[in-house]
Amino acid sequence: PTALFRFDDSYARAVSGLSVPWTAAPVPDPELLALNDDLATELGVDPAALREPSGVGLLVGQVPEETTTVAHAYAGHQFGGYVPRLGDGRALLLGEVTDTHGRRRDLHLKGSGRTPFARGGDGKAVVGPMLREYLFGEAMHGLGIPTTRALSVVGTGERVLREQELPGAVLCRVAASHLRVGTFQYAAASGDRETLRALADYAIERHHPEAADADNPYLALLGRVVDVQAELVAQWMLVGFVHGVMNTDNMTISGETIDYGPCAFMDAFDPRTVFSSIDHTGRYAYGNQPQAAQWNLARFGEALVPLIDESVDAAVEAATEVLGGFAERYDRLWSEGMAAKLGLGEPHPELVTDLLELMRDQHVDYTRFFRALSAGTARSLFTDPEPFDAWAKRREALLPADREAVAAAMDRVNPVYIPRNHRVEEALEQATVGEMGQFHRLVDAVSRPFDERPGLAEFTDPAPPGCPPHVTYC
Ligand code: AMP
Ligand code: MG
Ligand code: MG
Repeated sequence: PTALFRFDDSYARAVSGLSVPWTAAPVPDPELLALNDDLATELGVDPAALREPSGVGLLVGQVPEETTTVAHAYAGHQFGGYVPRLGDGRALLLGEVTDTHGRRRDLHLKGSGRTPFARGGDGKAVVGPMLREYLFGEAMHGLGIPTTRALSVVGTGERVLREQELPGAVLCRVAASHLRVGTFQYAAASGDRETLRALADYAIERHHPEAADADNPYLALLGRVVDVQAELVAQWMLVGFVHGVMNTDNMTISGETIDYGPCAFMDAFDPRTVFSSIDHTGRYAYGNQPQAAQWNLARFGEALVPLIDESVDAAVEAATEVLGGFAERYDRLWSEGMAAKLGLGEPHPELVTDLLELMRDQHVDYTRFFRALSAGTARSLFTDPEPFDAWAKRREALLPADREAVAAAMDRVNPVYIPRNHRVEEALEQATVGEMGQFHRLVDAVSRPFDERPGLAEFTDPAPPGCPPHVTYC
């Protein structure tokens, strides 16, 4: 195959012991199911070249001889329980590329076969979940939320055994990097301080270069990751996104959303909303996400302790103070974001609390509400509209005079199109039997989520009443 990308391997060169050279499994009958033309162009590659057989081959791991693909080692707390060795069980880093903005990005395959980290898994992925990851990444990107994105999904022509036999697929994912909290946990657990230091130095240089100038760069790194994660989770909360599996191996150092397994957008507002079939206790429920993020960041802080100070007590004290910055930053961003969603110039915490209580009690669709509010039709979403009328009066009194400008500003921050669960299921069911049309229409709708367009009304409706609660799988 021709070298469509010029791959670098700065991570493997800078940090030894955390990458294992490994090759992708052969793919009998590759078929390109989805290609992200805009992202390809941003990466500096002609999408047409990726549609050629050599391009499709690259997207399933058939790389030029001089390219070494690697599986990454990482550990992680899964639902609170520490697993010392997770790693890329079914994934490989193709390499790093510099995009047209000069940013270093990882190209990474998912579903490319078993690796030394596979444990009991088969190393495979299937079409539905890989297209799901593609769709949610584009939706988040459209919403302006930091995220990994899919470059492509290629069907493999293989059948993969899950509860039933399903068509196999390989995803090619683009990320600022694949460094996770779990990568640091793995390095810290190795007991080799030089590996941990090399990892931290690399993360600083690649993602948070300003930390290098601080008195204590490793404490500053912790502070920067606290900041970007507080920003990220605030944005998730504002759009009603439920990640579903906020394990420490699924939290990036870059601040991008990663791992769209069991995620979903909340329909009716309820902090207890859980979709994942394995989240029995609601650990990662919508309303628990800020706390889950803080918990993960504390694990990141622990991993950095040996670098922060020679005295463990002093390191823990300093890290604890930095971790305390999460709540402050999160609260401010969330309050400001909520004010913008409601068309208000500044936060009014009590007004927001009262609204959310009303929405929860009356099962009001979260996404619909804000667009209806700007359109003046929100009242109809409440089964008992009187308490809403009283609330609306209080809000009215706080609004700036130019109501048209208020409505326009609200519509710039409140999406009209999100990947609604019943529409996602429908599109993925059709894609699984080879019908890609509905998937592409849905991607198109959610890629420009604020821009209401004719012919896409079906994507704004909540699930019909009587639909069973939506369940997602890892
Ligand atoms: P996740 O829940 O997606 O974050 O994955 C957790 C771990 O399970 C990671 O180490 C994955 O590489 C691994 N894993 C998930 N599915 C498979 C599979 N089919 N084969 C091998 N490893 C897998
Ligand atoms: Mg993961
Ligand atoms: Mg996953």
